[in-house]
Amino acid sequence: MSAKTVRPSFFRRLATAVVQWIDSDYCPEGAEKMRNEPDRVDWVRVMPFVILHLGCLGVIWVGVSAFAAWAAVFLYFIRMFAVTGIYHRYFSHKTYSTSRFGQFILALWGGTTVQRGGLWWAYHHRHHHQHSDDPEDAHSPHVHGFIWSHIGWITSRRNFPTDYSKVKDLAKFPELVWLNRFDLVVPILYAASMFGIGAALERWAPGLGTNGAQMLVWGFFISTTALFHGTACINSMAHLMGKRRFKTEDDSRNSFILAIICLGEGWHNNHHRYQSCTRNGFYWWEIDPTYYGLKLLSYTGLIWGLKDVPQSILEEGMHADHHKSIAAAERSAERSDDISSSPLRTVLPAAAAIAVATATAAQADLPKKAEGPAIHKDLSGEMVKPNPAKPDSGTVI
Ligand SMILES: [Zn+2]
Ligand SMILES: [Zn+2]
Repeated sequence: MSAKTVRPSFFRRLATAVVQWIDSDYCPEGAEKMRNEPDRVDWVRVMPFVILHLGCLGVIWVGVSAFAAWAAVFLYFIRMFAVTGIYHRYFSHKTYSTSRFGQFILALWGGTTVQRGGLWWAYHHRHHHQHSDDPEDAHSPHVHGFIWSHIGWITSRRNFPTDYSKVKDLAKFPELVWLNRFDLVVPILYAASMFGIGAALERWAPGLGTNGAQMLVWGFFISTTALFHGTACINSMAHLMGKRRFKTEDDSRNSFILAIICLGEGWHNNHHRYQSCTRNGFYWWEIDPTYYGLKLLSYTGLIWGLKDVPQSILEEGMHADHHKSIAAAERSAERSDDISSSPLRTVLPAAAAIAVATATAAQADLPKKAEGPAIHKDLSGEMVKPNPAKPDSGTVI
């Protein structure tokens, strides 16, 4: 057997995966080789992610308070903003500018999302745009199925290492590389701060009914797990659910529901059409809270240079909408034609014709009926006046 095909022993792989929990760039086999492996779930490496989900069960022991539950909701949205406004619209697409210090603050904020480092995130996302819905795309629901696109792909060994050559613009900052390499540091500090806040509130604001363990479960485990699945919906659902305004080469879609869950990222077809602008909701009616937040942030001076949607793209979109509404109206007209020629439409007039014919026949029978035993007396004969010229005829007045 050649050295190339020798697979590291189980214990070697176990030890490697454990070290990678701390140092995500540790890769004795070589990152390039690892990235070229076939997809395979690494159950040891993925254990922190499993623990994140299992931690939600802690609610059985810590219970709930209104404060903890609302904190979880608040922390979901404030960190969804970090996913969308920072990891996506800054690290992946550079749709606005900031200083080096500002960039570091944004990276720390992004780290609290527990979605690994900004460089890993940006590398995978740029790769997604390059290979959307083709076999190279790590999380296409059309190629790999819904479950893999939603959650499976991040458990695969080959997707763990960061390809720094794809994020050279970010990799030139050692502080960003450090945060990316030791990507558990910020999440651990975040989880510890949740516990600390809860413990402090228990001591100084007991009326809120919370404590350290409860805030850890709600503010970290539950909120972060929900945040992961909300974000993952863009990988899975945003290529399955919604409408396609632009005929992009992938199957990206626009969805209002996903736009709410993910603070504007639901306008995914817009984004696949044009990725360099700061907003994903291209028109005023396409709600995009991430953009509104970034706009507010720009007033503080932390970020600047937000990029608008080009007029040509807006016109292209309006044109597409216009043609779609005409096509929809034509389809609707065709449907009504179909209904008019349907058996139901044929039967109903026929039934009406039969009813009218029956009534007419009944009218024709009236005189005969008048001659016979009538229920309603026919008075027409009594209105006949004698005609002097023709005494045997009558003229009906
Ligand atoms: Zn996409
Ligand atoms: Zn993108």
